[in-house]
Amino acid sequence: MKLSLVVPCYNEEGNIALFYKAVADTFEGHDFDYEIVFVNDGSTDGTLNVLKKLVTGPAAIKIISFSRNFGKEAAMLAGLENADGEYVTVIDADLQQHPSVVLDMIEKLDVNPEIDCVAAYQGERNEDAKMSFFKDAFYKVVNLITDTEFVSGASDFRTFRRPMVDSIVKMKEYFRFSKGIFSWVGYNTEYIPYTVNKRANGESKWSFFKLFRYALDGIESFTTRPLRLSLWLGILFIIISLPLFVISLATGKSAAVSAVFFVGGTILGCMGILGEYLAKTYIQGKGRPIYIVKEKISNR
Ligand code: UDP
Ligand code: MG
Repeated sequence: MKLSLVVPCYNEEGNIALFYKAVADTFEGHDFDYEIVFVNDGSTDGTLNVLKKLVTGPAAIKIISFSRNFGKEAAMLAGLENADGEYVTVIDADLQQHPSVVLDMIEKLDVNPEIDCVAAYQGERNEDAKMSFFKDAFYKVVNLITDTEFVSGASDFRTFRRPMVDSIVKMKEYFRFSKGIFSWVGYNTEYIPYTVNKRANGESKWSFFKLFRYALDGIESFTTRPLRLSLWLGILFIIISLPLFVISLATGKSAAVSAVFFVGGTILGCMGILGEYLAKTYIQGKGRPIYIVKEKISNR
């Protein structure tokens, strides 16, 4: 098997057939065999039924259907674990990422044996200014405080060579942040620009708040430096408080109220950081599965 397409699907009933057709049309006339691994991430619409209809078609199809919604990260992992291809592509079901880009990725891998992964990044962003601002800020912060490189604008839309896939699926962390994982495992990644299309049907599942939460998860998954930051902050404030104490003694004025707020806020903030890591350790410690498969279907 030359290529596996891994497709996470959450409430994509209107897009699956279009996606399938776009893939078939794009790959027609190209002489390689491929499979499509659809992961139904607990869709509540007709996604699973639409997927099951594809099984009777000519293409090699696998359907991995979750018992509930576990999130795109879990769906990507399940897809990668079930992909048999020599090359494996992660691609969205909504046609924002067109399969024709996959052909460019494959060609890059074919002619450059030293490249292990071709990742697409958004040449130009089709989103509002607020979103762009926060995304840029996130990448600046995350690259500053972690040792793992995060490339701004890079998406999960990428094609891996088999050895890299095998390395990625070995990472069984519960709080998954793929862009970090893809970078953490190493190997050579080549970035190519692509244009993001409008969603064919349905809506994006990402709200601003969800993205913010995801960004925090990303930072916490790849660095423990904020923990140390709280220690340094504590030391800094103790040092600052000493001359302040002397001044208030000398002038007879009390700085008590502002000091209480200042120190209280710092302590709460530090405890919050501590809590974030503690909660993650707790959940990871329970060793729960990252996803649960309810049904698995394949036509090969
Ligand atoms: N997705 C998923 N589980 C989720 C949310 C999204 O499998 O909980 C899938 C979704 O069906 C799509 C891809 O992940 O194929 C990207 O989702 P979306 O289009 O909502 O994100 P955006 O393109 O807006 O970043
Ligand atoms: Mg999308």
